[in-house]
Amino acid sequence: MADHENSDRGDLIHEGTDPSGSPMAHGAPAESDRNSLSLSPNGPLLLHDTHLVDTLAHFNRENVPERRPHAKGAGAFGEFEVTADVSAYTRAAVFQPGTSTPMLARFSTVAGELGSPDTWRDVRGFSLKFYTSEGNYDLVGNNTPVFFLRDPMKFPHFIRSQKRLADSGLRDATMQWDFWTHTPESAHQVAYLMGDRGLPRTWRHMNGYGSHTYMWTNADLERFWVKYHFVSDQGVESMSNDEAERMAGTDSDYHRRDLFESIGRGDHPSWKLMVQVMPYEDAKSYRFNPFDLTKTWSQSDYPRIPVGTMTLNQNPENFFAQIEQAAFSPGNVVPGIGFSPDKMLLGRVFAYADAHRARIGTNFDQLPVNRPVNGAGRPYMFDGAMTYDHSGSAPVYAPNSDGRPYADREGPVPEGWEADGEMVRSAYDLHSEDDDWSQAGTLVRDVFDDAERDRFVDTVAGTLHGVREDVLARALRYWHNVDPGTGDRIAAAVGRDG
Ligand code: NDP
Repeated sequence: MADHENSDRGDLIHEGTDPSGSPMAHGAPAESDRNSLSLSPNGPLLLHDTHLVDTLAHFNRENVPERRPHAKGAGAFGEFEVTADVSAYTRAAVFQPGTSTPMLARFSTVAGELGSPDTWRDVRGFSLKFYTSEGNYDLVGNNTPVFFLRDPMKFPHFIRSQKRLADSGLRDATMQWDFWTHTPESAHQVAYLMGDRGLPRTWRHMNGYGSHTYMWTNADLERFWVKYHFVSDQGVESMSNDEAERMAGTDSDYHRRDLFESIGRGDHPSWKLMVQVMPYEDAKSYRFNPFDLTKTWSQSDYPRIPVGTMTLNQNPENFFAQIEQAAFSPGNVVPGIGFSPDKMLLGRVFAYADAHRARIGTNFDQLPVNRPVNGAGRPYMFDGAMTYDHSGSAPVYAPNSDGRPYADREGPVPEGWEADGEMVRSAYDLHSEDDDWSQAGTLVRDVFDDAERDRFVDTVAGTLHGVREDVLARALRYWHNVDPGTGDRIAAAVGRDG
């Protein structure tokens, strides 16, 4: 008998594998993972082959919906070690001298879907989860210190403008530039994106920024505003447009592969955490609105202070369970760390946890990758799909007379701030040097060197190729506002007068 005629009987296929049996979902032995139950070899399949039905039905449900932004990414586990003393600014256990905390990092692109190339020009997500002794602390940042927007109302509009057209399902430069140029607050971030750092060589070769302003409080409950910078120990390196385009075709998972293989061979990437700390009272008079996510704080005003080192040293054992289902939320803070009046942060604090409830399920926080390690009991939140943790017969309400503890704070919250005034809808709390163009101009004019500025002009002009005439005209005014000289060069590069 020829080999292939015998193969359904299993002798060859089982070579080197273990045919001793697998369980069905309910634990009883499965009869076969290869041969479905039929009435005679060529007869109809039988509905009571529950293992077949379960296998096919589960397969249809194998995905969870991809994240709407930040769909394509990967991550790794590691350690955060405090190497300095910032206890004067925060009482958070994770940042106390000598503390070492297990953690998870996930890097991603923003606009592309789950299967999109890693090397499309984009902002990169830089999400961290610290499994601290006081509960999970998540810092959900990017590889840029600013963002396109300062109000969360605009966020869904922005993301849709970077994704796909309603009719053709194609990505579209006109739509991207149409949104950006109607939204001048985007200029700083778009300048950053079109610079070399919009195409990081690998995730290991990019810095991470918390981007938002957060509050720290020390043991005396003194309050400080803080911004996080994770500076890559590998150095900051970029790809050229040509390299990135080639890589998108030859290895669309290049960044994912690079991280996994580096860690696999023991080459563990690390980043130094530094913070800018602003005394609480300075916020009112600082020359830029310190809560505007489209602005940085100048390092000459608030120099960076070292805190510690984050090292990624362990790959996931299972991508889906540990990375796809990882749920980061800027709402996850611990005592000593709080929010600020940054509107984008306050919007995200709601939206991220809600995205996970929609994407993964009500009890996403009970999955091993998301659960806190401090053994905190179940909160007063009950039931829902996939309930795993439970509190037995303990009271389901508070206050109660059966001794189940509950929280009961009154009065000012330690990581809170004063707010007083009219209820308004307002885009601006203008400080003396606030406008949409200046910091973008500083970046393009003073931070980029001549060679990077040349590449920047080429990149912007390249992305404007084919953009509809009215949007192109607005884009040229946009860049002229950022920096007249650079604007003129972009106009010349697309064949228009400056
Ligand atoms: P500084 O000269 O003190 O800081 C300049 C910052 O620019 C440094 O943090 C540096 O990098 C970063 N940088 C260097 N090269 C590039 C590049 N090619 N692309 C993007 N960023 C780069 O000046 P200021 O703090 O007054 O900031 C001036 C401008 O620098 C800002 O308007 C902003 O556009 C940009 N910037 C500022 C940052 C901040 O937090 N103050 C952070 C990043 C950029 P690194 O962070 O890698 O050390």
